[in-house]
Amino acid sequence: MQSFQPPRRILMGPGPSDVSPRVLSALARPTIGHLDPEFQALMEDIKAGLARLMNAPDHACVPLPAPGTAGMEAAIMNLLEPGDVAVIAVNGAFGGRMADMAGRAGAEVVTVDHAWGEPVDPARIEAALKARQAKVLAFVHAETSTGARSDAQTLCALARAHGALSIVDCVTSLGGIAVDVAAWDADVVYSGTQKCLSAPPGLSPIALSKRAQAAISGRREKVRNWLCDFNLLMSYWGGEGGRTYHHTAPINALYGLHESLVMLFEEGQQAAIVRHARVHEALVAGLEAAGLKLLVDPAHRLPQLNAVVVPEGVDEAAVRAHVLQRWDLEIGAGLGPLKGKIWRIGLMGASATPWHVRLCLTALCEALAAQGFTADAAAAVAAAEASLERRLAA
Ligand SMILES: *Cc1c(COP(=O)(O)O)cnc(C)c1O
Repeated sequence: MQSFQPPRRILMGPGPSDVSPRVLSALARPTIGHLDPEFQALMEDIKAGLARLMNAPDHACVPLPAPGTAGMEAAIMNLLEPGDVAVIAVNGAFGGRMADMAGRAGAEVVTVDHAWGEPVDPARIEAALKARQAKVLAFVHAETSTGARSDAQTLCALARAHGALSIVDCVTSLGGIAVDVAAWDADVVYSGTQKCLSAPPGLSPIALSKRAQAAISGRREKVRNWLCDFNLLMSYWGGEGGRTYHHTAPINALYGLHESLVMLFEEGQQAAIVRHARVHEALVAGLEAAGLKLLVDPAHRLPQLNAVVVPEGVDEAAVRAHVLQRWDLEIGAGLGPLKGKIWRIGLMGASATPWHVRLCLTALCEALAAQGFTADAAAAVAAAEASLERRLAA
């Protein structure tokens, strides 16, 4: 065997996003024991950082030792027991995944299906909650498979009004658009490190309300997933009464998450949100100048995930292959019903910069030209520049 040397890529797909050199060097710091007092201090700092980032001062916040999907699985498996009713909004791939998991937990699953690209419709969720006494309402705040943003505040309020606990997928939203757990009064919110937090994949920050904690400790039967059973996990992460062994925390991965939180607070959370919005507007201006259209209505677009409609006659996969080969640029493909129909361009975390916008527009126009679709790269980049200037002047 030989050492693996990855190529240098520019990551503008649906995740992972570019990881800054600061985070990469934090990952390479010396490994210490997970019960070492110094490591326990790091854990406390991460818990406090997550609570601040999500504005969840009254929630239990911990990073789960696995990627975003683990947060989803933990939320579903801890809150749902066989026979419980779960209302699940499905407006893309990740809502569909939640519904699958809820079925595996033995719940009676009521899905509220939407066209892909649409936000979750609160009126239809309300109707579903009125029709059945649900234990849980689950939905995705930022649907990465389509680029649509849903109204988390309204949906969490509906859950509460109908006596249901809310589960909110914030994997792609956290760090890129506002996530305000206290204002939403959300019950379980989970995220991932590899999208707008720009740390490597492998950890899933999660926040649990007091109501959610009470529901979990009052379960009729044990959680069927041992690693993510909060009743066990919280005695490891909880801090009071000393920690005991539960699993071995992914120590170096946590150094990386910690550094990404330090960087985010240095920049300022609001500044990071404004940066995502600004580069998104520039990218859209450039794409439109190049003659391309976005899938999602402007009112519901996510800045960090841009679903671009593949023009008639253009080979979607050939364009992705072109930008990867010539520009070391990764952009994403469509999933499910959108396969072959869209590209997904991420502007997440460290990948949300004007430089990334210019590079992506230039590379994309070149790839489109190779496909016989005339797109003026100079005009696209000029439109993006003009948008960036307008934002600075505003
Ligand atoms: C990426 C993503 C997930 C899953 O996260 P992984 O880190 O890939 O496991 C879940 N939900 C949404 C909305 C995502 O974008």
